Amino acid sequence: MRVPSFACWLTLASAAGIPGASSLAWAQGPALSIRGGDVSSLPKAEDKGGRWRDGKGEVRDALSILQGAGVNTIRLKVWLEPADGYNDKARVVALAKRVKALGMKLLVDFHYSDAWADPGKQVKPRSWRGLTLERLRKAVYDHTFDVLSALKAQGTPADLVQIGNEINDGMLWEEGRASKSWPGLAQLLNAGADAAKAVSPATQVVMHLADGGKNDLYRWWFDAARTHQVRYDVIGLSYYPIWHGDLAALRANLNDVAARYGKPVLVVETGYPFTTADADGHANLVSTREPLAGYPATPAGQASLLRAVMAAVRAVPSGRGLGVVYWEPTWTAVPGAGWDPADAKSGNAYENQALFDYEGRALPALQVLGAP
Ligand code: CA
Repeated sequence: MRVPSFACWLTLASAAGIPGASSLAWAQGPALSIRGGDVSSLPKAEDKGGRWRDGKGEVRDALSILQGAGVNTIRLKVWLEPADGYNDKARVVALAKRVKALGMKLLVDFHYSDAWADPGKQVKPRSWRGLTLERLRKAVYDHTFDVLSALKAQGTPADLVQIGNEINDGMLWEEGRASKSWPGLAQLLNAGADAAKAVSPATQVVMHLADGGKNDLYRWWFDAARTHQVRYDVIGLSYYPIWHGDLAALRANLNDVAARYGKPVLVVETGYPFTTADADGHANLVSTREPLAGYPATPAGQASLLRAVMAAVRAVPSGRGLGVVYWEPTWTAVPGAGWDPADAKSGNAYENQALFDYEGRALPALQVLGAP
């Protein structure tokens, strides 16, 4: 799509000594080292009969289709005791083997919960209820160490690890609720970070908030993290345009936090619809015709939005724009593979933001995601 044609022209133009070519290349920024997809829902969808087709319409292994498009990183979430068993340690370890066999990097996303954790809910795992802060700290360390050790033991160590998911107001409420107890949250985060580094010092530790365009939130959070000496390597952001501000807000926040804290930035979740239509009778989260002005909910609009998000990260000064991970590109509507791990009849509210259409065929945005 854009990148091959434009980047190839730059290379040729620079070699030919065309004036302005190298400064254009500079403005373009360095290649993104992480071009990823979170495919946490994939094993369940595969078990329930999901099928994914490449651009030619051939049914193939979904991970191979992603890898073939240039996707080089896979993000997987970990739950402790999910109702349906998916996304637990054993499943993550099994899927990691397939990821690494394809030569892709692995980002492990610890939710420290039995189900979804996000800014609105950070529910402790059932088996951790009633623990004191000190016991919780140990539980975070042990669980993190346990999962990451299992990955390392089979020769598939995590390249990046998220300690918590969308922790705007902390995690493991109430002990780790940021607005009530930053010192408590900092202890829990450092327990996870220390466990990750104990397994493998090379693993990059990510702290992840939602609302990627909300600079006041990021400053509040990461200033406090600095005050409380939270140890991390990378700032992770979710950016969903319909909720998290426009692209200018995203750019401003990325540039500000990268410079202010001297850390690389990584969009660990983004998504955008390619259609307003619903495939499975379960209403979709985003169904407006143009969720962000200038980007219609069409295959071309989805590709264009993703291209813009990637350009925003690429343009972060000093090479601090690490990359972009698309959220659930393979989560098509497959009966039995809905959102609720406790309800086999639950539907999918996101299939119109996948990177495969309702026939399971790869969309143009997948090629955008894979291009450096
Ligand atoms: Ca739906």
